[in-house]
Amino acid sequence: MKALISITLEMGIAHFHTYSASLNITVLGLRFVEDSTTRHNFSPSLGETAEMRVEVIPPPSGHYSGYTFHIGIVRELSNGTDQHIDWVNVQPEQGPGAYYNWRDVDFQSKVFTWNGIPSVPFGQSALISTGRDVFTGADGNTVNIRFPAVTAGQPVPPPFYTAVAMIKGSNNNVITETRKRIFVPQVVKMVYEADAVSLMKQGRFNTAGTTNIIQKISDPEWEEMRTSIPAGAQEFIDLIGANIRFVCDSTAVSPPYKTIRIVNRIVIGNRHYSALGITRDFSFMNESMIGTGYVGMGQLYDIFPRYSNVDNGTFALPVKPHEIRSHCIRTTLHECGHMFGLVADNNVLGGDNGKHNLNPSGGIHIMDDGTAVTYERRFRRPGHEEWRWRELNEEYLKFILPKEEKTP
Ligand SMILES: [Zn+2]
Repeated sequence: MKALISITLEMGIAHFHTYSASLNITVLGLRFVEDSTTRHNFSPSLGETAEMRVEVIPPPSGHYSGYTFHIGIVRELSNGTDQHIDWVNVQPEQGPGAYYNWRDVDFQSKVFTWNGIPSVPFGQSALISTGRDVFTGADGNTVNIRFPAVTAGQPVPPPFYTAVAMIKGSNNNVITETRKRIFVPQVVKMVYEADAVSLMKQGRFNTAGTTNIIQKISDPEWEEMRTSIPAGAQEFIDLIGANIRFVCDSTAVSPPYKTIRIVNRIVIGNRHYSALGITRDFSFMNESMIGTGYVGMGQLYDIFPRYSNVDNGTFALPVKPHEIRSHCIRTTLHECGHMFGLVADNNVLGGDNGKHNLNPSGGIHIMDDGTAVTYERRFRRPGHEEWRWRELNEEYLKFILPKEEKTP
């Protein structure tokens, strides 16, 4: 930490050849404080704001003259420099419409707010860039964290920013500064297409119409599933502590965010896909801020009735609504995994050429190839081992979307 040193020297001559002197040294510092009024993990896409409390040490009795206070928002790059993103409005008391990136050092402890939407003149767009944090993957191979592009006027993308609170001297030199990371979650919005919903509400019988294979989902059951599908995906993410927020279709979200579409038939462009789920927006290190993953319910309702354990009568029918929900959750997590870069076929993550885990052991892991996953497991039938993230995939998700600063 650089320090401000102000020296007051008082000397007086009391007697002939006798001196008395006093030396008064003040070292100015700043400190970010965490308490119930602060929020260092926020989603500007969901309209939230970061709340940062800064303390001046020692607290001024009025103000320190000749100095100004600022909070810059930067990204710390791998080459040791800072990439400027925004300045926080540090004079909120001036009211709406006013914006000051400086104030007098006239407070002891104060909360400052950042809306996460950099706008000219204090904020700016920024190029995709490489940060300092390093992930160690397969065989000790490493990769630096990547920061997606920032677009002025839009909420900033994940994963994190560094707030730099500083005091500057009269010639604009920084006298003292302190830093704090501010985390931004990845938002995933669920969208349900009407023909997928009507398919689920109809259920499925065998062709003779004698056996109910998939139970129909009632209107109230579906209304509950609208929110319980994203909530179920959230549970699996919260278990590992990655900074991802699933929201349902009725939540207002500003770009950038990613989308999971629950559809009947998967059509991307003019191409039709016969798959339970797919995405074409794979993004290693989550560099790309946009992306759509699809869950194709029509494919499930077509092919599950022909599953061998249905044919031979060992699969208890009908499939229940909560089991359809589990299938949606698992497929959502799997397609999101691809949109976050799992499992890149490179020397860090070591996926196969279909971007799935090598050696899927019975489809237990979420990023195993779908062909390895039994329907018993998709539907989370009792007696079948629960699906989960493979450890390296879990560590990667926590690295690209961290929730808190690692203590060195
Ligand atoms: Zn896949």
